[in-house]
Amino acid sequence: MRKLDSKTGTFKHPLESETLALDIGPSTIAIVGNSQASLQQFAAEILRDHRMIRRLPRHLDRQRRANNPDCYDAQGRALSSKHPTKKCRRQVQMEGRIAELFRREAAHRKALHGRLANQILGLGVLIQTEKLSYKAFQKRFGRSISIRAPKLFLSILTHKAESAGGQVIEFSTRTTALSQVCVCGKKHKKRLSERVHACECGVTTQRDLFSAYLARFMEDDALQVAKARESWPGAEPLLRTAWQQAVTKPPASRGTRPSSFGRYPSDPSQSGSSEKVGATVGIVANPAAKSLDVVAFSRPSGQEVVRARKRLQEFANRTPTSTRCKARRL
Ligand SMILES: [Zn+2]
Repeated sequence: MRKLDSKTGTFKHPLESETLALDIGPSTIAIVGNSQASLQQFAAEILRDHRMIRRLPRHLDRQRRANNPDCYDAQGRALSSKHPTKKCRRQVQMEGRIAELFRREAAHRKALHGRLANQILGLGVLIQTEKLSYKAFQKRFGRSISIRAPKLFLSILTHKAESAGGQVIEFSTRTTALSQVCVCGKKHKKRLSERVHACECGVTTQRDLFSAYLARFMEDDALQVAKARESWPGAEPLLRTAWQQAVTKPPASRGTRPSSFGRYPSDPSQSGSSEKVGATVGIVANPAAKSLDVVAFSRPSGQEVVRARKRLQEFANRTPTSTRCKARRL
């Protein structure tokens, strides 16, 4: 149901009829339209407390064993014939605490997915994307999927698009393999770790953004290469800007930027482009560097800061007494 603004009487999220294309990864999404492009991480604000999620269930398991000693053998193995049913008050509290931890995260994730879906529908309600096996994602990137939930995002987006009169079209990847093709028609099989599409014809861009760009030219499960080639000169600066923004924007709160964003070239003029965007935005980090140098920008995470402080403390403790006395005297 689309929300109305009570003051103006208009829809809160205006819709456009532009055709958009998405490239969905285990934790990231590339969005490419006629005039807009973006590369971002799903639910980037979510920071799972891995330490608590590891420790609390272990605590719960110890409580369960203590309350039901007859359900385990001498070596601590669970007996299949007996089910632990006795619970103490603290165990019930712990179960509630764990459930609340996951419930909060799920609610936050759903809200963030809904917000992103609304933003996308504000750009266009006709959406094309590859039909992916989210089960395969789950097997390969289990932890990331459990936090970012790309399948949940797609189902939210599909539902919202349909209620707004649009559609999410999923096409088969079997014949297309968009991550391997170029606008020049050449095919180059890439490893998953290769995050940049760099072709001999001069096209150099972020792999996911390029796949999303090509997805816009899918018609009846076939890529219209000629159309994609024709539109490429106009789309290239758009994709480059989206890539640059993705790698230079500070990550949400204490999170880290996904490595799948790839390295933004320090000198885009060497990437076969006619425009020197790097010079105008001042991101050329090292003039002597080759075409694919990194724009190094990473904020230390909370844990890294704690570790660094610990190291400093250890170093201070290791300083010989005589030196410390000297320092105090000074
Ligand atoms: Zn090419």
